[in-house]
Parts: sequence; C-alpha cells; structure tokens
Amino acid sequence: MKDTALALKLKRLIERDGPLTISEFMRHCLSDPEHGYYMSANPFGENGDFVTAPEVSQLFGELLGGWTLNLWREIGSPSHFHLVEIGPGRGTLMSDVMRVLRLSPACSAAVNIHLVETSPRLRKIQEQTLAARPPLNAAPTHWASHIGEIPDDAPIIALANELFDALPIHQYVKTPEGWFERVVGLDANGVLCFGQGPGPQPENALPEAIQTNSAEIGAIFETQPQGDALAQTIAERLTRQGGAALFIDYGYVRAAVGDSLQALRKHKMVSPLEHIGDADLTAHVNFESLVRASATGGAQVHGPLTQGAFLLKLGLLERAGALGAGKSHAEQERIRNQVERLAAPQQMGDLFKVVALSAPQNRLSLFPFDS
Ligand code: SAH
Repeated sequence: MKDTALALKLKRLIERDGPLTISEFMRHCLSDPEHGYYMSANPFGENGDFVTAPEVSQLFGELLGGWTLNLWREIGSPSHFHLVEIGPGRGTLMSDVMRVLRLSPACSAAVNIHLVETSPRLRKIQEQTLAARPPLNAAPTHWASHIGEIPDDAPIIALANELFDALPIHQYVKTPEGWFERVVGLDANGVLCFGQGPGPQPENALPEAIQTNSAEIGAIFETQPQGDALAQTIAERLTRQGGAALFIDYGYVRAAVGDSLQALRKHKMVSPLEHIGDADLTAHVNFESLVRASATGGAQVHGPLTQGAFLLKLGLLERAGALGAGKSHAEQERIRNQVERLAAPQQMGDLFKVVALSAPQNRLSLFPFDS
C-alpha cells in the first residue's frame, strides 16, 4: 500500500525524534493541521466513514432537545444561558435541538449557542447547517476552539456526542518486567509498527484496577488523560456557573484491560497503521475514569445509562410514533429502522453510554437518570 502524505510525514518525524506514543500518534492522525483526519476528510454519513446517532435520525437530536428544554426549566428558567456543543460534527444535532427549543419562546430568547470545534473545515459545514434554520434570537452563534472560551456569566448546558472517543489515549503493554508504554515506531524495513517505549511504569503510577490485576503478558490497558481533563474542566465550569452536561459515547463502565484503538474507513475496520490520516481513529471511552474526573471537578454525576435505556426513557417510541403518523408504509419502516439502530442492544443501544453532570448547587434529581 502506498504511504499517505501524513504517513510519510510521521515516518520522518520518527526517524528524527524516535517513536511516538499512541497519544501523539492519534493526535497527529486526527488533528495534523495539513493532513489530519478531521482537518481534511469528510467523515460523516453513508458516503463517509461512519454514521453517528444524530446522522442516523432526527429523533436523537429532538429527544436531546427535549432533555435540554426540561433541564433549563429545572434550573429555574434562567433568562440567559449558554448552550454549548463540543465536537459538533456537521451541526446536525444542534440543528435538531434548536427545532425543539423553538417550542418555548422564553427558552429561545434566553439561549446563547456555542459550538466548540477544532476543525476549520467542520466549522464551515456547521455554519452551513445552522444557516439553513431561522435563528432562535438575535444573538449570533459563537464558535470556540476550547471550552475555556465560553463566557462565565450564566449557566451552561453542554452536549457532547462521540467527542471523547476522538481524544487521544495512552496504551501500556504488560511484559515480564512490568507495564511499558506502547508506541508507534519503524521496523527494519522502515514500515510503521507498534512497539514498546521506555518503562516499566512505576507500579503506583498505574490505575488501581491495573495494579491489582493479574493481567497476562501482552495485555494492554489504556488511559485517557485528555478526555478526563476535559470532563473535569466542564465539571468545574458547572460548579462555578450552574447548569449541566450530557456526554454520549461508546465505551465501558468499569476499567479493564483491552486494546480498543480502532480505525474505521468507509464503514470497515482497518489497521490503525494503514490509511494514516484517511481513516477515523478512535478508542472506547473509560466511563469509570470519566465519572471520577467529573466528580473531582465538583459535579454531581448521574448515570451512566446505556443509550438504549436513556432514549427509551426520554420517549423514543412515542416520538417515533408521532413522526410516522399518517406517513407512508415505507417511511414508517424507515423510522422503525432508525429506532432499532439507535436503541437495539446489538446496535448502538448497549455499547453507547450516557452520563450527565450537574452543578452541585442545582441539586438536580436529573431525568431520566435518577427516576
Ligand atoms: N458530535 C458529532 C461529531 C462526532 S465526531 C456527531 O455526533 O455527529 C468528533 C467531533 O469532535 C468532530 O467534530 C471533531 O472535529 C471534534 N473534535 C475533535 N477533537 C476535539 C476537541 N479537542 N475539541 C473540540 N472538538 C473536537
């Protein structure tokens, strides 16, 4: 296979500076300013590499819109609040959420919309998607590169779907001498390969679940310091400003060993060391770690629930029924298929998890987590 421009660039970098950690490798593959996946590719939809829940069906964004509206009321219907989406992709989720917020003139008047996006290319697509809808009020939509840029003068409601899986992870491999960081280097033929970095890691630097784990030689465990730091930052903002956040992603609820680094291209799994910069590279999210980081930031944590349970409790079937009412048989069948994809256990229903954070001062019993 011919090397991509980014593969050649990474090889030169490795020749010069030595192997890359998995975290550095992911960061280059996804965010290299010239050739990174999110900077240049068109990832979403049937013609892209993967389909996310908001792209599967408008039902997803509408239910999240209902959740947002309900939450705004729960925190006392503030006359000014920031609705923030982090990693908004094509802007489809925000667009569907806005359609629901429009049902409440008071909420529509109160909202300030912020999209936190690192890819200039995706920002353009988001602008187009949102321009196709009448704005909710006179306030312009803001784009930011980091949550730190969101004003701190009002409560925040933050949404993030499939964001954390795109943030770089570190991997460690068990050897007879202990755990070594996993790296990407070059083999004798100059081909990219996985290898062992410096080590072993000091025992007490490892997560507790791993210290006590009698993992086999060759086992891999992962950490996600960047994702955890983001969750903690959001939790701190909520604690200062009030409000809540909703994180939806694929992942696991208990820390465990396993290699979840995966590359997806045109809906097929490929090796993470091929199609460099042309394939989506993700890892499963460790929700145990995300929940701990959120609690460290001061937030009250609700869940995790599976995506299936979450959407069903929010009224997925009722909303699907209303959407299909009076439509053709084919259209009703299409909606039924969307419901299956979003909520069936063997599809997205079980693998995807949902957690919510809320500001401790709001003391929310948060629907549908705590009921
Ligand atoms: N939420 C969308 C897209 C998920 S893909 C959907 O469900 O369809 C991941 C998104 O996160 C992309 O928009 C990507 O550009 C963005 N992203 C990646 N790293 C980011 C970061 N550190 N901060 C903000 N956005 C990021």
